[in-house]
Amino acid sequence: MTRLTSLTLAEARDGLANKSFTSLELTDAHLGAIEAARALNAFVMETPDQARAMARAVDARIAKGEGGPLAGIPLGIKDLFATKDVRTTACSKILGNFVPPYESTITSQLWRDGAVMLGKLNNDEFAMGSSNETSCFGPVVNPWRREGSNTTLVPGGSSGGSASAVAALLCMGATATDTGGSIRQPAAFTGTVGMKPTYGRCSRWGIVAFASSLDQAGPIARTVRDSAILMRSMAGHDPKDTTSVDRVVPDYEAAIGKSVKGMKIGIPNEYRLDGMPQEIEKLWSEGAAWLKAAGAELVDISLPHTKYALPAYYIVAPAEASSNLARYDGVRYGLRVPGRSIGEQYENTRAEGFGPEVRRRVMIGTYVLSAGYYDAYYLRAQKVRTLIKRDFEECFARGVNAILTPATPSAAFGIGEKGADPVEMYLNDIFTVTVNMAGLPGIAVPAGKDTQGLPLGLQLIGRPFDEETLFSLGEVIEQAAGRFTPARWW
Ligand code: GLN
Repeated sequence: MTRLTSLTLAEARDGLANKSFTSLELTDAHLGAIEAARALNAFVMETPDQARAMARAVDARIAKGEGGPLAGIPLGIKDLFATKDVRTTACSKILGNFVPPYESTITSQLWRDGAVMLGKLNNDEFAMGSSNETSCFGPVVNPWRREGSNTTLVPGGSSGGSASAVAALLCMGATATDTGGSIRQPAAFTGTVGMKPTYGRCSRWGIVAFASSLDQAGPIARTVRDSAILMRSMAGHDPKDTTSVDRVVPDYEAAIGKSVKGMKIGIPNEYRLDGMPQEIEKLWSEGAAWLKAAGAELVDISLPHTKYALPAYYIVAPAEASSNLARYDGVRYGLRVPGRSIGEQYENTRAEGFGPEVRRRVMIGTYVLSAGYYDAYYLRAQKVRTLIKRDFEECFARGVNAILTPATPSAAFGIGEKGADPVEMYLNDIFTVTVNMAGLPGIAVPAGKDTQGLPLGLQLIGRPFDEETLFSLGEVIEQAAGRFTPARWW
């Protein structure tokens, strides 16, 4: 049982192909692990019957030599992805028991390639958060603990269920989404690998929208190779998403092990924050040294508009969210709280259905878009966004292949420890939001531990549509840093 769940996705794929075990055995091993890990609250919906049916069907296909690239691999799906006939809530009360009559493009591509669905994973409500504490299903617990402590830690967010489940060996990989850091920050907090692709690389169709110009889906997995394998199935053009880009999907796995000799790696001065823990600084220099030892050239770069990224993000993202969330009116989906008039019904439904963080975003967004404030806030934030993008473009034009930064300013914190001041929570994404603002790809790779034994990650930022370079460089870091697995206590 345990042996099967500790395989990497790549190892499991090979084991299935040479018939060392069946997908049903692999799936059952994971279903058992999920059942034994309910204390982590990573899954909000387990789908064991569906999982076994999918595994049996794919075993039959493998026997005939017809399995796809993910044949028989059990995955977890963030509850932001619409799954046909399986409840999809974005972890918000307002969606209630919504059961989509359709499947998101990304998940349908995963099933097309033979993957098996284990269930739906917890996340922050509408993907708004950095700790998974805003979910209507309650917080997710990080499988990692500080040495000698029983304090329960957050797994990061918003894809906290995905990160926790992958780290705790409950699934071989998971889907996630990233609007300002929600793939990379939870990956860094759990010792897993999180890849946010270039905006437009993956279809957004059938994913609950948060901020449409920033949202992008990607995988969380235990190794860089596993993320590359998942990316190939998730990426691709989709006529149903007009922002998805029609480009050939490369064989990302082929980038693993490719030489990084002669690559120019930018080290941005602006990511050196006052008061940043010493161990983050150390991790960053260590990562740079590993890349240098592999033949890359380190160059100091400047991204002067970095300091405006977080404030500008907290205008653009809430503005788009307030518009996207207007559809939850108690008429079409989920929860309905009646009132004496249609207006009152809207108000009652939204007041009862949205949690406090989502309400805050809707209010900020409505404010910055309102007449008289639009130019001062929204329009100005859009201009700042252009400047942030230009900073990156100038570095890439000077020959920089990728940029190395810390993934987060700290390791995982305790449940309930942050959040009294929302800005304190927002600061978690200080190193990741710039990448969404510029539409670039970014990967978080575990690179070391803090003094309390918690994993820390490094981020690599790439040129548009050059995820392959990130996989090559990410693997160099992984090789040097080793793998990170939490000791089981649950
Ligand atoms: N933590 C950020 C926010 O709350 C980003 C979330 C995300 O990437 N979905 O908006």
